[in-house]
Amino acid sequence: MIKTDVLVIGAGPVGLFAVHQLGLIGLKAEVVDNLDKIGGQCIELYPDKPIYDIPALPECTGESLTNNLLEQIKPFKTNFHLNERVEQIIKENNNWKITTNKKKIFLAPNIIIAGGVGSFEPRKFSLEGAEKFENKSIFYSIKDKNNFKNKKISIFGGGDSALDWAIELSKLAEVTLVHRRNEFRGVESSGNKVKELEKEGKLKIKTPFQINSIEGKENITSITIKDESGKIEKISTDYVLGFFGLIMKLGPIVEWGLNLEKKTIPVNTENFQTNKEGIFAIGDICSYPGKLKLILSGFHEGALAARACFKLARPNEKYRFEFTTTSKSVQDRLGITKK
Ligand SMILES: Cc1cc2nc3c(=O)[nH]c(=O)nc-3n(C[C@H](O)[C@H](O)[C@H](O)COP(=O)(O)OP(=O)(O)OC[C@H]3O[C@@H](n4cnc5c(N)ncnc54)[C@H](O)[C@@H]3O)c2cc1C
Repeated sequence: MIKTDVLVIGAGPVGLFAVHQLGLIGLKAEVVDNLDKIGGQCIELYPDKPIYDIPALPECTGESLTNNLLEQIKPFKTNFHLNERVEQIIKENNNWKITTNKKKIFLAPNIIIAGGVGSFEPRKFSLEGAEKFENKSIFYSIKDKNNFKNKKISIFGGGDSALDWAIELSKLAEVTLVHRRNEFRGVESSGNKVKELEKEGKLKIKTPFQINSIEGKENITSITIKDESGKIEKISTDYVLGFFGLIMKLGPIVEWGLNLEKKTIPVNTENFQTNKEGIFAIGDICSYPGKLKLILSGFHEGALAARACFKLARPNEKYRFEFTTTSKSVQDRLGITKK
């Protein structure tokens, strides 16, 4: 069990800045995110696109904003629990007991939900029976490409992830790339590269085909694919990888007894608390009159929620407002040594 002052759900830009605001006032946070990387929508949906409305940063990208936010919270040595979705929240005396899908348990007097539009989840095969092979023979993300060394792999999808992984894995495995259309959606250069590799005999391409059936008991041994005319082909395969993009699901958040309004959580704008004491919501997931779904609004919301967390995390201390410019204790927390 991990005890902390605040559990932050969501490692998007707003969750990251909340960690900074908590750190400045001496509160420790742990961060959980369902994605395998830090940065929320900025990293998952538009890492290379320019953003022009972050205060005092005339231009940055989703990726550089995330990197800067991470740099800013470095002094607080925050633990990130990635690839984990918060499933359950239960009140236990003065704390919240938070359980993830990997059965990790946190105990904290405060929770800040910075869950954006919900957790990002991979779009999966809709084929009956596919579920039982998940994480054994069927994968929707890759943690270690070496697990696929010298294996037969069928990769489904036509976007950047499918193309990139087909190119990468063709160096160490026997790859068949299957896509339901003849044209790929990913960048042209990757589309050209897979066609080149096919010509060189380094991978196979099957288009326009879709998955039709899976064969195997514990693990997959082969699959069949079908084209629009009904033609069926069998492929002997050890692993099936699906890259069909992500869907956003509010997911377990709807089961935590919080008031909800059109898939958002209404908050009190004085402190961004929800209808439950010690549970705050900030960023895209919160709603209040006049709410703007912008990163800069989320930063302000995190600053106020952090101060409110102080009361429950340090019930016997009085919170003192301080400027970073002049406060010695804040500068100590940031590890700044005065010349
Ligand atoms: C194409 C595009 C361009 C944009 N351009 C701009 C712009 O120019 N300026 C601007 O200000 N805004 C812009 N935005 C909006 C901006 O990206 C969002 O306002 C911002 O990302 C919200 O941040 P957040 O931290 O609240 O949520 P998110 O970035 O959505 O992050 C939430 C995180 O919470 C995680 N999560 C959710 N539920 C759980 C759970 N139960 N357990 C674990 N993890 C969970 C998710 O996996 C996700 O990583 C743009 C958005 C898009 C899509």
